Amino acid sequence: MVENFFNTKIEFLKGVGPKKAEILKKELNIHTVGDLIQHYPFRHEDRSQYHQLDQIQSDMPYIQVRGWIRKIETIGEKQKQRLVATFSDEHGSIELVWFKGAKWIEKQLTVGQELLVFGKPQLYGAKFSIAHPEIELVTETHQPSGGGLQPIYHTTEVMKRRFLDSKALSKLMKTAVNQSLEHVNESLPDYLMEHFKLIDKKTALWHIHFPPSIEALQKAKFRLKTEELFFLQLQLLKLKIARTDKFKGMVLKRTNLLNTFYQQHLPFDLTGAQKRVIKEIHADMASGEQMNRLVQGDVGSGKTIVAFISMLIAVASGTQSALMAPTEILATQHYEGLKPFADMMGVTIELLTGSTRTAKRRIIDENLRSGELKIIVGTHALLEDTVQFKLLGLAIVDEQHRFGVAQRAKLWNKNAGIYPHILVMTATPIPRTLAMTLYGDLDVSVIDELPAGRKPIQTFHMNDSGRLRVNGFIKKEIEKGRQVYIVYPLIEESETLDIKDLQDGYESICRAFPENHISIVHGRMKPEDKEFEMQRFIKNETQIMVATTVIEVGVNVPNASVMIIENAERFGLAQLHQLRGRVGRGAEQSYCILMSKEKLSKEGKVRMETMVRTNNGFEIADVDLKLRGPGDISGTQQSGVLDLLIADLATDGALLQAARDAAKRILERDPELAHPKNQPILSHINSLKKTTTNWGRIS
Ligand code: ADP
Ligand code: MG
Repeated sequence: MVENFFNTKIEFLKGVGPKKAEILKKELNIHTVGDLIQHYPFRHEDRSQYHQLDQIQSDMPYIQVRGWIRKIETIGEKQKQRLVATFSDEHGSIELVWFKGAKWIEKQLTVGQELLVFGKPQLYGAKFSIAHPEIELVTETHQPSGGGLQPIYHTTEVMKRRFLDSKALSKLMKTAVNQSLEHVNESLPDYLMEHFKLIDKKTALWHIHFPPSIEALQKAKFRLKTEELFFLQLQLLKLKIARTDKFKGMVLKRTNLLNTFYQQHLPFDLTGAQKRVIKEIHADMASGEQMNRLVQGDVGSGKTIVAFISMLIAVASGTQSALMAPTEILATQHYEGLKPFADMMGVTIELLTGSTRTAKRRIIDENLRSGELKIIVGTHALLEDTVQFKLLGLAIVDEQHRFGVAQRAKLWNKNAGIYPHILVMTATPIPRTLAMTLYGDLDVSVIDELPAGRKPIQTFHMNDSGRLRVNGFIKKEIEKGRQVYIVYPLIEESETLDIKDLQDGYESICRAFPENHISIVHGRMKPEDKEFEMQRFIKNETQIMVATTVIEVGVNVPNASVMIIENAERFGLAQLHQLRGRVGRGAEQSYCILMSKEKLSKEGKVRMETMVRTNNGFEIADVDLKLRGPGDISGTQQSGVLDLLIADLATDGALLQAARDAAKRILERDPELAHPKNQPILSHINSLKKTTTNWGRIS
């Protein structure tokens, strides 16, 4: 017997062999028996019941019916011939239709035959029909009992062509599960099973594939989901504990600069949420442990000032601070926004980007090393090896989803041996469930309040028939002194077409607004030209900015009050929300107008309706998660943690929370999992270590 049965190579499973093994590896990434049995079915077909033919409805996915063939006929002209059989039971009748292989099927059928029929019903006119049904003959000697709940597995086109369809897979699965059961060890201790009311693992594994009833299937699912989420959270929490143990943090807690700033220079009252988050950050920095905190705040919630105040704590305590932004425009805006405050406070601040001149750079590098320069704002340029600090106390990363995990780690290593506190700020509202998984090792703060007096942005959805009205509206806003963004999508595959769209749009805007100055910005322009146009708009030298999504992140022009999004149906929800966040930054009422074509997909409609209905980024993120699934949320694909086998972050939020709580309690009492009652957990983790590489990729 192999050491671990589940690591048995898939080609050694009865019925597989080298050819099928090759396909399974290539198509489904199934290499071992363990991989196979964790290829859970995505649904089951209920073959345990028959439907009455008068009770069929068009929204039924698949049905099983039993009855007799009444009539068989071939309908239509030569090329488009189809075979139609009238089929009925005691209650009603439907049609069975074949478009292909009609000749062969016709030979199999006779009027009066009793059949078991399985397929998807569709309504044509007033009559239901099933195209290409599965059929089984009922005779005196063969009385099919139906098959109970049949698992349906995800397969690919290649697999189907090679006769490895769901049915074939189900056969292999039966063998694999049968052989596996005796090797399955319970991975959860009794007390957890009781707490969550779970069935045992063996039964769960059997029933997830071949359930005797719907109820059994649900119990199996619940058991496996709970287990998956529990171990996910346990691993993340362990990682976090390991990190805080390993990396002692600098104690930074002096608040003298902060107090001066509050009393003399703060231009507005902080919101309650800003105050709370600053408190959390201060407590972290003073704690003696390294801070690793994610601050989530919707666009316009005022993250920049929170960053600045945190930097003041670091500076007052004798260290330096870095603020890194994903683009030059953003870094520049941060710098220009913060410089007046820093100057008032007598704190040195500089900007370092790819276009900083060599002479200037040399001075900056030198002053960072000597410690004279306290705050550095910049782009990726900050990550270069030449940038060394005397003592970096706090590193802040803005708009984190643009940065890879590796880059975050690089910032940490700026001090030999002493890790700076890390603050990650993101305006992409990530639903709680996702944040807990993606950043499970980080602490999360949420700025869930907008500054007072902000008027909620009003959003409208229009199509081309409203074009003239929209232009009239733009005109009025400009007359009031406001500025306007008009944004076009840019999707890489169709870049040339998109640029043409943008150019056409620009020209028609120029014609419609001959007396206004208009900027255009897109990704194909040279950076300095882009910068030049942005600056013209920021200074209100131009009133309309026609742009692709380059303006998506962070740009702050409080006087801009209208955001027009062209071809809005081509944007995802998260991006629409980000774009809308470019307006509504001043005291004036702001507007967002979504222009789309008239006919939208179902999903497109939901996106437009959601945008019109709410300004709440978290609500929008939730809808987005439900529409797209977690794997698609920006920046999460590469993380690897989201390859969940059975749990669904979009719908299992409550269970995730419960699993996390349980994991936390266990680790608090038994951090090493050394207690005998936690033995199942420990040995399961050890077996996971051998088979997955995911954990190394987080953090
Ligand atoms: P974001 O969270 O999107 O980065 P910013 O930090 O750019 O938001 O803040 C948006 C605008 O709101 C800025 O002009 C900023 O000065 C202003 N602001 C921030 N906090 C407050 C507050 N408490 N009261 C009033 N205005 C504020
Ligand atoms: Mg910002």
